[in-house]
Amino acid sequence: MNSEELVAFIRDIYSTNEFIPLHAPTFNGNESRYVQETIDSTFVSSVGKFVDDFEKKIEALTGTKKAVATVNGTAALHTALYMAGVRAGDIVITQALTFVATCNALYHMGAEPAFVDVSPESLGLCPKALDSFLSEHAEVNNGECFLKSSQKRIRAVVPMHTFGHPVELDEIIDVCRRWSLSLVEDAAESLGSYYKGKHTGCFGDFGALSFNGNKIITTGGGGIVLCSTAESGSRAKYITTTAKVPHAYEFFHDEAGFNYRMPNINAALGCAQMESLESFLKAKRQLAEYYLEFFTGSECQFVSEPTYARSNYWLNAVICPDESSREQLLKETNEMGVMTRPIWKLMHRLPMYQNALRDSLEQSELIESRLVNLPSSPVVNR
Ligand SMILES: *Cc1c(COP(=O)(O)O)cnc(C)c1O
Repeated sequence: MNSEELVAFIRDIYSTNEFIPLHAPTFNGNESRYVQETIDSTFVSSVGKFVDDFEKKIEALTGTKKAVATVNGTAALHTALYMAGVRAGDIVITQALTFVATCNALYHMGAEPAFVDVSPESLGLCPKALDSFLSEHAEVNNGECFLKSSQKRIRAVVPMHTFGHPVELDEIIDVCRRWSLSLVEDAAESLGSYYKGKHTGCFGDFGALSFNGNKIITTGGGGIVLCSTAESGSRAKYITTTAKVPHAYEFFHDEAGFNYRMPNINAALGCAQMESLESFLKAKRQLAEYYLEFFTGSECQFVSEPTYARSNYWLNAVICPDESSREQLLKETNEMGVMTRPIWKLMHRLPMYQNALRDSLEQSELIESRLVNLPSSPVVNR
């Protein structure tokens, strides 16, 4: 890959000779107005109408039964796992090719991850690898799944829709049913991504979205728990808002809840960002098309959406032919002021997860050593 040509191509897209980041937020709508409204009204914190509005907007977009807004995506994942019944001592199966938050959320509940491989088409959890891992290591007793070796309970499966590309959900759901496992989707990166026409994050018992500054829309910091039933939604709301029993003035909390509620000032930003989501998605598809065209016929393979999905193309990526060409591409583009990044280190290489049970991670390792993320901010009028 000729880095100079790529850099010129990217500079042309963004029409700038300045530094080009991997992903920057775009504020070209009602952001200032709504945030100012919360300040003028003094309702910047845990009370205010924007939180409800934001949740309703996400419900309308995703079709989930109930969306519960939280302080960040990690808190949303923690809540989702807790709601799915994950407790200390449990095993949760996920991919090693993910952002560290996926594992941290379950680690802080005293649960342990187990890693299976990803599929090359989606870059997310591979249903075949999941099934074969379970066949080798697990057994179902009285409707619960256990590790054969230690009799620890395997409670849930957490696939992650890498860079907004949906995993093979039908097949994963089938495996989860056969092995009595809850499905919790880490949809932090996939707002606006659809699997066979249905929004990601809405297939499992729970899903988690993130609105961190680098995601497709941002609330500054924020997340949402997507709940598959109205009852689980009410309960998720309850435990993320200190489990306070409703009363005009008395403080009575009937369990140890979390203080995970998204502040109103952040939700105000989110409401404005939701008004722009469609234009961001359109701009991102356009950008992905440009990249695809650029890389067609080159030695680098552009990562396109899986055939069954419509991806949000949150972060564009290419797979280099080998590790040394990846190093060269990273070094040269960054030196020229165009930010590119490798994918995360696989989770089992991090000290806290190095002893986690894991299957063969052949595809994950291959992607880890060859993938490069490219600048992906939507090009829209500012
Ligand atoms: C961003 C992200 C999260 C967590 O989001 P925060 O809002 O930063 O806590 C979780 N999982 C994945 C895969 C992410 O990309």
